[in-house]
Amino acid sequence: MEIVGSKVYQYDLPLAWPLPLKKTKLTRRQGLILELKVNDADQGVGYLYGEAAPLPDFSLESLDAARQQLGEIASALAGQQVDPESFNSQEWYGQPVYPSVAFALESAISLPVLLADDNETALPVAPLLTGSTMEMLRRIESWSSCWPVAFKLKVARGELKSEVYRVKQLLEALPEPVCLRLDANRGWSLEQAVEFARQIDSSRIAYIEEPVDNAADCPAFYQQTRMPFAWDETLQNPEFEFSPQTGLAAIVVKPALVGGIRRCESLVSAGREAGVHVIISSAFESVLGVNTLETLARIWAPGEAAGLDTLTAFEHHLLDQPVALWQRLPEPVLQHMERV
Ligand SMILES: [Mg+2]
Repeated sequence: MEIVGSKVYQYDLPLAWPLPLKKTKLTRRQGLILELKVNDADQGVGYLYGEAAPLPDFSLESLDAARQQLGEIASALAGQQVDPESFNSQEWYGQPVYPSVAFALESAISLPVLLADDNETALPVAPLLTGSTMEMLRRIESWSSCWPVAFKLKVARGELKSEVYRVKQLLEALPEPVCLRLDANRGWSLEQAVEFARQIDSSRIAYIEEPVDNAADCPAFYQQTRMPFAWDETLQNPEFEFSPQTGLAAIVVKPALVGGIRRCESLVSAGREAGVHVIISSAFESVLGVNTLETLARIWAPGEAAGLDTLTAFEHHLLDQPVALWQRLPEPVLQHMERV
């Protein structure tokens, strides 16, 4: 496939409510959309899209840095032949590529191959509980559809005692087989995490993501509490190499934070080989990025409840209708973004 040309657009979308991250509260989401004009041997000339949306507090690169690098690599790709099966941005560029930029490039170029493998079955989702405890309980009490296997809840954000109380209340409100997936985002010391976990019925916790500030303490945390843990931030370290650990129940793979399709593919296969759950998760990308992540989740982790319940955070979406492969985004959508 030949890359004929490229454009980078920037979107700026209002969120439905202020989104609390680690230190910042986001009221708008900004990100970049990569448009590649390509010439495919079978399909002729068409368009492919990818998204780079560094998430404040989580991504190491800023939006400005991502914009600059994405622009640079995208223009350098013009006139080049790429293989959608194996395109690796890092290898092609010959130096480190920001995770969000690698995701945009590799997902755009790999899209024809990924969509060919996508069976489009409905994907189970673990809904994220947000708001006050009352609001969470009300959401659970008024639940009218099928129960998900698990709900997701952020912890390690407030007073330990009240968080224990909240988790207990939620577990009491949820019917027995429904679990919680907790996420501490490395917010606790080992002592705090152990104190928390010892007060909770571990059998109702599918796992807790990154319970401690030092990932090396995860096995000790498990030994002292028997609460299974999961890696998320740990996978985002470019030096990280997967090895199975006692108590490791899942890896939470966020392609926009881990760095593209190729790196994620290798983590996913290592995780699956070790028998841990593989959870494909979003990092508040626009609907365009989330659509790609849904495809990846269906291919890489079929039947697994993905962490892709983030679109509700947006007041309105970048697109209302999915765009077919090879088609250009509708003109009003492109005009709504800033060309950068
Ligand atoms: Mg997490």
